[in-house]
Amino acid sequence: MPTETERIHRLTDLLASSRRPVFLTGAGMSTESGIPDFRSAGGLYRNGVGEDVFDIRAFNRNPERFYGFSQRFLGLIRAARPHPGHLAIAALAHEFGRRVTVVTQNIDMLHQEAGSPVVLPVHGTLASSHCTRCGATIATEQVWAAVERGELPRHDVLCNGIVKPDIVFFGELLPPDIFAAAETAVREADLLVVAGTSLIVFPAASLPTLRRPECPLVIINQSPTTLDGSAHLLFREPAGKVLDQAVARLRSLPGNR
Ligand code: NAD
Repeated sequence: MPTETERIHRLTDLLASSRRPVFLTGAGMSTESGIPDFRSAGGLYRNGVGEDVFDIRAFNRNPERFYGFSQRFLGLIRAARPHPGHLAIAALAHEFGRRVTVVTQNIDMLHQEAGSPVVLPVHGTLASSHCTRCGATIATEQVWAAVERGELPRHDVLCNGIVKPDIVFFGELLPPDIFAAAETAVREADLLVVAGTSLIVFPAASLPTLRRPECPLVIINQSPTTLDGSAHLLFREPAGKVLDQAVARLRSLPGNR
């Protein structure tokens, strides 16, 4: 394998020649912001959180369990800030005029906070919630205090329905418009960078197969994925660090703005 520096240089070259890059990101993109992923050694599944905590049937049976877990997890998400990798992706659009699309499985909104202009959150976000009884939309912020107190968040006293965040649980459909836009972006991409995802959760994991044959695939993931064999460039280093270094190098090259 070429050295890390050589691979960073190659990534910079790919970013320099790309006009419509797509970034497909997962929970590993946010670990450097302090949010655990699912499947790493420090991830939620290896640390006492059952795989069914994000399962819709389990939520409907026992929402207290989901909110018990969420007290800490959603607290970490609320406290998290974008890291240099999130900012580097946003800079490609703002500083370098690239038509960047971020397709993210993350619910934490860190790409949006970093300023990326086009973010497609295929698994929803924590920004809004809804009442499971009357369907009313509720800003998640409004029920946050109840979650922090360890209470089951409920819609107002009249309805009293249990509130569920607008994130896609296992067993639920993905937002069709957002997923269709993600498919189109990948089909039109001239560079696809997959960062911080185990590529285990479908249908998001199938998106890279839609890229054109001439679209280079870059994978930045600390553990192996099923697509490593078809990657033009492979990093096992932290995604934030790799993206920050590649974009910093792009800044130093003449004629890229
Ligand atoms: P995953 O846990 O299955 O995989 C994360 C991958 O990222 C792992 O393969 C790991 O090796 C890699 N990784 C961890 N830190 C990294 C880093 N700094 N740089 C590069 N790679 C790193 O997560 P997934 O593939 O996103 O799928 C799980 C589901 O979990 C997704 O639907 C996602 O919505 C949800 N989730 C989201 C968050 C969040 O919003 N931050 C957090 C946990 C889980």
